[in-house]
This record gives sequence, C-alpha cells and structure tokens, in this order.
Amino acid sequence: MSETGRPLNFLERIVQEDLESGKITRVKTRFPPEPNGYLHIGHAKSIWLNFGLAQNYGGECNLRMDDTNPAKEDEEYVEAIQRDVQWLGYQWAGKVRYASDYFDQLYEWALYLIRAGKAYVCDLSADEMREYRGTLTEAGKNSPYRERSVEENLALFEKMRAGEFEEGKCALRAKIDMSAPNINLRDPVLYRIKKASHHQTGDKWCIYPSYDYAHGQSDAIEGITHSICTLEFADHRPLYDWFINQLPVPAEPHQYEFSRLNVNYTVTSKRKLKQLVDENYVDGWDDPRMPTIAGMRRRGFTPKALRDFCEMAGVTKTDGVVEIGVLEHAIREDLNANSPRAMCVLRPLKVILTNYPAEKTEVFTAPGHPQRDDMPERQLPFGREIYIDQEDFRESANKQYKRLIPGRRVRLRNAYVIEAQEAIKDNTGNIIALHATYIEDTHGKDPADGIKPKAVIHWVAAHAHIDCEVRLYDRLFADVAPDAGGKNFLECINPNSLEILQGCKGEMGLSKATLEDRYQFEREGYFILDARYSSVDKPVFNRVIGLRDTWDKAAQPD
Ligand code: ATP
Ligand code: MG
Repeated sequence: MSETGRPLNFLERIVQEDLESGKITRVKTRFPPEPNGYLHIGHAKSIWLNFGLAQNYGGECNLRMDDTNPAKEDEEYVEAIQRDVQWLGYQWAGKVRYASDYFDQLYEWALYLIRAGKAYVCDLSADEMREYRGTLTEAGKNSPYRERSVEENLALFEKMRAGEFEEGKCALRAKIDMSAPNINLRDPVLYRIKKASHHQTGDKWCIYPSYDYAHGQSDAIEGITHSICTLEFADHRPLYDWFINQLPVPAEPHQYEFSRLNVNYTVTSKRKLKQLVDENYVDGWDDPRMPTIAGMRRRGFTPKALRDFCEMAGVTKTDGVVEIGVLEHAIREDLNANSPRAMCVLRPLKVILTNYPAEKTEVFTAPGHPQRDDMPERQLPFGREIYIDQEDFRESANKQYKRLIPGRRVRLRNAYVIEAQEAIKDNTGNIIALHATYIEDTHGKDPADGIKPKAVIHWVAAHAHIDCEVRLYDRLFADVAPDAGGKNFLECINPNSLEILQGCKGEMGLSKATLEDRYQFEREGYFILDARYSSVDKPVFNRVIGLRDTWDKAAQPD
C-alpha cells in the first residue's frame, strides 16, 4: 500500500523489491525535460512519478535538462521548467543538471567506441541513411563507410569536432547490426554536425550527441537507478542497454517505461502548444486555458490538485485517455475544502429597495467558509441599493424558475428576504434597475406572514463593493480528441473559451485578495486574481473552474 492507502503501482513495486533484495541501497530517479517549450500536464505526471518515487522511498531525484538539440532550446524554457517543478512542490537533488555538462565525457566515450571498432564516421546523407536502414520487414544494408579503419574514423571524427565539415556531411554511428529486427539497433547515429550556438556551452561544440547516445550515459554518470520514460521508448531500451554494456560507465541504470498521460479535450505535445503560442491562438505559454503547468497555475489550479490528479490517473503500461473531468474533480475537491467564500455579482442589475430608509446602512456577517472555523467571518455592508445578477430576475418565467419575478420573493444570502415589484427600463426597453421591497425582520428568520422564498441569491451593496473584471474560461478545445485521428487540432479550438465580463461587483473583502488567494464566489465557481492583468486599480479575476460540471449537461435538452 502507498502512503495514501492505494495499492502500489508497478514502478513502486519494482523500487521496493530492488531495495529489499539489496540490488540498490538508495533509489535515484531523474526528470529529464528538453528545454524546448513549457512543461504541460503530461510532464506533471512524469514529475509526480519521478520525484514522488524518490520521496516515498528515501531517495533523490535529479532535474536534468536534456539539452542535446540547441536549435530548438532556450534559456527561457530552462527557467520556466525550474519554476514549474518547484511550484508542483518538488525540489531536485543538488544543482540543476544538463546533459551538456557531460559533453566532454560523452565525446571521450565516443572515441572509446571508435577505438573498440564499435563506431564509425559515415558519409551517407540523411536520405541515404534512411534508405539503407531497411524497414520493419526488411533488413538494412551496411553503409559503404562501415569498414573504415579506427585511425581513419578517429581522424574524421576529430575533423567533425573541429568544424571542418558542413552540416549533414557526415555523422558518427554505432556499429551494431544492420539486420537487427529492432531498427533502433541498425547503426544508430551518435553524433551529428550542428553549427549552432548552445544556450549552455556557447560555441564550444559543433557536433551534438543524439538523445539515445546521451540519455543513458547521463543516467549512468548521475548514478540513476531507475530511468523512467514513456512507452514509446520501450524499443530504445536494447540500445540503452547496449551503450551501458559497451562503455566503461560508472553505474548501470535500468530503463522502465510507463504509459504517457493523455487527457481528453486536451493537446499534450510541446510542438503543438508552441504553435498555439507562436500563432497567437492563445495569450502566451501561461494563458489560463493552456494545459501547461504555467497556464494551470495562472488559471488558479493548485499543486495539490495536480498531484492528486496524477495519482488518480494511475501508473500503467497500457496507453489510455483520462477524462478531463477527473482533473476538474480534483480541483473542485481541493478548492471546495480550502477556499473562503465571497459574493460577486458578475452581470449586475441594480435593485432599489423602496421601503428601506435612504440614509440607513447595516453590516451583516457571514462565515468565511461553512465548515471551517479557522477562516475569518466576512462583513457585508447593506443599504437601500444593492446589485443582484441579471439572471436572478425575469419579468415572466415558467414554473422551474424559482427566483425573482414581479411579486415573488427570494432570500438575499446572509441578509433579508426581498420581493420584486417592477422593472425600470430605458427608452429602448432594456431593464436598467428593479424596484423591490425588503421584508422587515427576516434576517435569519422566515417572513412573519408565512410566505417563504424558494431561492437564495447572492448580492452586494451598491454603496460598498469593489468593481472588477471577471474572465470566464471554458475548454480550449471543443473536440473530445483534438489530437487524434489525423485531425487538424487548430480546427478543434473552442471559439468561446474566453468570456470577459467588465463591471462586475464583488464584496468588500475581495479588496484584500492576493495572487495566492482562491475564493468560491457563491453560486458562480472558484476564482483567483489574474497574475498578469490584475492591478490594484482594476482587479481581474480568473474563473478557475465552475461549481459543477456543466459541459455535458449543456449538450442535453432542458
Ligand atoms: P512532448 O511530446 O510534449 O514534446 P517530450 O516527451 O518530447 O514531450 P520531454 O521534455 O522530452 O518532452 O519530456 C520530459 C519527460 O517527461 C520525459 O521523461 C517524458 O517521457 C515525460 N513526458 C512527456 N510527456 C508525457 C506525458 N504525456 N505523460 C507522461 N510523461 C510524459
Ligand atoms: Mg522528448
């Protein structure tokens, strides 16, 4: 059983067995992102898994930038990755590592393979190489450069490193087996020429190691015991092991694969997320609709909810798709338990309580949270003029509608019962205010005449409230599988994923909100200040999530 009482997942069982059998004395994992984009919900799963395993079994987890492809990488991403890992609640062991820290060692080991007759410089072009590689059903052919002497290979590789060849002119390849059933073993490329400046090593190198060559050796250098990756790398494991067996590495890490996290209505590919950013479909990597960790943070999701979600989704060896409703459920659970309550009228309608004295005001109190004594009580000023939501009044309505119509009563939450009288309109017929009366002595009591209201609505006082903007988000994609079946994911974008409401009216206590505070706006959902657009002069609240799932219901008839 895990600490939270669920059965152990298969990786936890492996680590536990390896510790019990003495195969390892301490578990060591790593999270190895490539700094070519911001981390997304799928990476959160890998972070939770790698850091969680280390944490739960008394080990360590490294953060390693897998930075072997300088053309697509950037220091901005390196920094964002660190922020996101820490925000999720994890700390790596020691300093941040970079695969590029090991370029000297990897180069030495490449020479070692050449000297052992296990690597050669090949002049085939990329297209020719592909042609020679064969297919799943057809063996490959040996490269005509495969039998170069050790001396010639050493000299050519040195020239590659010295920048004497153009990009694509040649590559260093392992000499394994061109007829291996596993195509990854058909003389894979170890080094390519790339005349690009690197964000860590500058212009020191013009040859860069392949992922396959760099990854396992980096694991070995760091003493990683369990190198966890997603299932698509299962076919690379024989190559991973080949390098570890051939080279004088200081440790023998093992690779384990688990199924990647896929979430419906969501795209989890850095390349596609980058396209959304670069082509301005969204407002940056941290747009609150993005499934990036930075976006989810700005949206107001909590680290705990994300960790809980990863746990709920489970760790398996078969690919599947998790419903986004599971994530939304995890967020609601956390926010319901931990968010103070507040009232905020999103689409205000002014109500004049014609029988309430013009000069009079009162202050009611309300609990900070219905189940939490540790949250301070709220003060709710009240007066003759208040705001309610436009949705809570209709001139006429069917039987299902329990809120205000002329002559009908509702209770104002934490205050009086009121009764609607008449809608006031401008000369084009729009309702601009409502005349109503309040029923005396109904604060915390039913009306003396026995006519009880059938609904409770939220409100704020016209003389004491804060004005704010509210941003309502919906799913970024309207299609359940925007990333599947050869669809163009851009065509699946939900055109109504952002609605901006101006002139919303919040209760006074919201003026104290900080960027860390999440509130339940009663009857509306959970909200947090937007870290980019909010200011003291103009608070902007993001809706983290609604109170309940309305997505599927919206599709059904009333
Ligand atoms: P993408 O497909 O979005 O470009 P990637 O695998 O190329 O992702 P990396 O930066 O290489 O991105 O990933 C770092 C780590 O996160 C890897 O170990 C990878 O296996 C893991 N990872 C990436 N996506 C997922 C996912 N959807 N579910 C679980 N783990 C993931
Ligand atoms: Mg990758």
